[in-house]
Amino acid sequence: MADRATVRRWVEGAQRIVVLTGAGISTDSGIPDFRGPQGVWTRNPMAEKLSNIHYYMADPEVRKASWKSRMDHTAWSAKPNAGHLALAMLEKRGKLHALITQNIDELHQVAGNSAEKVIEVHGTMRKVVCMSCGMTAPMQKALDRVRAGEADPPCRDCGGILKSATISFGQQLVPEVIERAMLAAGEADLLIAVGTTLQVYPVAGAVPAAKAVGARVVIINAEPTAMDDIADALLPGSISEILPRICGE
Ligand SMILES: [Zn+2]
Repeated sequence: MADRATVRRWVEGAQRIVVLTGAGISTDSGIPDFRGPQGVWTRNPMAEKLSNIHYYMADPEVRKASWKSRMDHTAWSAKPNAGHLALAMLEKRGKLHALITQNIDELHQVAGNSAEKVIEVHGTMRKVVCMSCGMTAPMQKALDRVRAGEADPPCRDCGGILKSATISFGQQLVPEVIERAMLAAGEADLLIAVGTTLQVYPVAGAVPAAKAVGARVVIINAEPTAMDDIADALLPGSISEILPRICGE
């Protein structure tokens, strides 16, 4: 099994790196992993209700609570960590083919990755979408309305229910976005999976898709993942410490 120095050489030699990130890369920025053992859902099952589309659409009280929790979200004050910055550096060096992320915090873009490179398979919490007409708008504008007294602000165009532009539980992924992610993975010469246990399909399928076209697979995660057996390197440990070392110039 390859070590950090070897992986660093692979990064140096690669030209079309595809990175797949999960919640683990943002925990060092203070954003909790909802599903992990210390996750919000594990400790407070009611929190999961707020993320379920069926409760959200049916119950105004759930929506009011959701707006409150959006306002209080740790992501608004979170800053990209050294792991995010290392991936932004990969793009600056012209090595990043695509950055597939399961995260909704946009910290990759804040760190300097361009929007065209980032494929957000679970959407973004920094926008709202109207569930009736599909209108999208910046989240902060909707939060301004909540602060001004609207507990559950409706769409200004059609009166429909507004929601963060994320994929909630019970909602379908966007097929075009998943297709883009899989296409990119199939063009990789190196795939680095970071901070995800690779258990959720179809996104996890990016790893075997890259492997199938001959890409090396590197997995950086504190815990074992579902894809460890096809990895060429496993680097457990601190993501914000490891990524700068393998991606740095
Ligand atoms: Zn609308």
